[in-house]
Amino acid sequence: MSDVMAQAKLNMNFLSQAITGTQQLRSTVTNVFNLLCEGVKPDEEEDGKGDDAETAVTVGKDGKKFLQRFQEYLEAVNKDYNEVEKMCNNMTSMTDLPVLGPSGALSLDSIADKNSTYRDAVLTYQWNNRLHEYAQIATSLMLTNQIKRSQLQAGAGAKRRRAAPPKFTNLPSQTVDNTLQTLSRQLSDTTMKILQASGDTRIVHLAVGRVFVVIIVLRSLTIEKVLVKGLDENIILENNTVDLFSDSQYLCMQKITDHAMSAVLQYSTYQASPPEFPLKYLLYWLQSYKSLFTDACTVCGKHLDNGLPPLWRDFKIPVPCHDSCRA
Ligand SMILES: [Zn+2]
Repeated sequence: MSDVMAQAKLNMNFLSQAITGTQQLRSTVTNVFNLLCEGVKPDEEEDGKGDDAETAVTVGKDGKKFLQRFQEYLEAVNKDYNEVEKMCNNMTSMTDLPVLGPSGALSLDSIADKNSTYRDAVLTYQWNNRLHEYAQIATSLMLTNQIKRSQLQAGAGAKRRRAAPPKFTNLPSQTVDNTLQTLSRQLSDTTMKILQASGDTRIVHLAVGRVFVVIIVLRSLTIEKVLVKGLDENIILENNTVDLFSDSQYLCMQKITDHAMSAVLQYSTYQASPPEFPLKYLLYWLQSYKSLFTDACTVCGKHLDNGLPPLWRDFKIPVPCHDSCRA
């Protein structure tokens, strides 16, 4: 930056001399115009008195003197003009700096402290441009070497809609009871009764044919727990409360409990549906188990697979299928 300051000082000196030269040039040009306007004064040569012949001689002498004076002034103008031009050529131009729009006017600031402002601005602009260029290169490199957390996130998988969490809707108690009664009437070979009710929470007992019983814990109409047990299993504890936490002793019922919880998750994510629909879908899905021990697998056609009946039911079309036969 010291070179810049020295160059600026030198330029200032040349500029000062050029201004002085310009003032001198204006003075000499003014002399020329004054001469053209006023001419030479007669009293500078002769008395101006005499006959016509003497007058003609005087005019001739005046013209000669005018031309002589005019030539002198023009030479002075030419000399001063050459001086100004010489000063201008000595000054170093600032063309090495790009022009940044209106901010280029900063370089014209005559205050010494602000002489470097424009140059600093240009350097900052160049650094910023370089940074932008490097960022673009880095982005293109990173795009060609993406780190994927899983294959599913790439391509069409990333666009798959994420299921919304189930929403709890606080409904009036009478509405919930009416809904449960309506659903109970719509089911065939399935009986439903409410074992306990406390506030919004209800424990529903569902007997599916002569296959199993299901304990469903409802909060309003939101399903919180499903437990499948055999017909001969005890569901009431000694203190007259419902046993919600003991799994069935039968492997078959344990597996159906797992499938039922999956069904609850699946049906709870249905969007824009009335609040009773997840429960309704679950009840119809559970109802499809009423012929569990007589149905054959729709895939392999057999009744048993590893000693178990076809335990799986699809969530959309609940047809019997072995766990091992699922697609
Ligand atoms: Zn099968």
